[in-house]
Amino acid sequence: MRNPENREFVRLHDRTFRVMIPAERIDEAVTAVAARLNADYAERPVPLFIGVLNGAFMFLSDLMKKLEFDCELSFVKLASYSGTSSTGKVKSLIGLNGSIEGRHVVIVEDIVDTGESIEHMVRELEGLRPASIAVCTLFFKPGSYSRQVPIDYRALEIGNEFIVGYGLDYDQLGRNLKDVYVVTGEGQA
Ligand code: 5GP
Ligand code: MG
Repeated sequence: MRNPENREFVRLHDRTFRVMIPAERIDEAVTAVAARLNADYAERPVPLFIGVLNGAFMFLSDLMKKLEFDCELSFVKLASYSGTSSTGKVKSLIGLNGSIEGRHVVIVEDIVDTGESIEHMVRELEGLRPASIAVCTLFFKPGSYSRQVPIDYRALEIGNEFIVGYGLDYDQLGRNLKDVYVVTGEGQA
């Protein structure tokens, strides 16, 4: 059980995490991204939002409530990510049923780090001939990103630190936290 009066630190598995971005700040950033989408998609044919599971579920849920145009929703899954460093291997896309040909697609990610996952996903979706593809991510690590795919909507930019909360996990724990936390040095092997 966590102490709801002390949101500053959480312990997940073997690590201690310190609050970095409070829920209120996340909400402001989601509102700002939603406003941009409202401006950009109001006049277009109904877009399809594709959320990348598991991490993007909370972001996409909050984001969609702030969208003022008709839109459709689907979820896909890529490779899982375990521990605090990338495995470097990405599996293929699963869960997309139905054609996206001629559709305006918005991929919704929890975080774009090196860009390997999102690049893989964009390339795969491009092969299905949508009318357009945009990428919308809650977190973006500009110091780590090394790919050419444009990241159109970035709610929050952070450094290269490992974060959890608001959908993001540390070995499957922490997704339910409403604030975002950063790993501390404490408990490192
Ligand atoms: P990529 O390096 O391919 O851009 O990122 C791959 C995946 O690594 C992301 O979709 C996300 O699942 C995970 N990831 C990258 N950085 C972090 C982080 O700081 N925290 C968490 N929980 N996952 C991360
Ligand atoms: Mg992800």
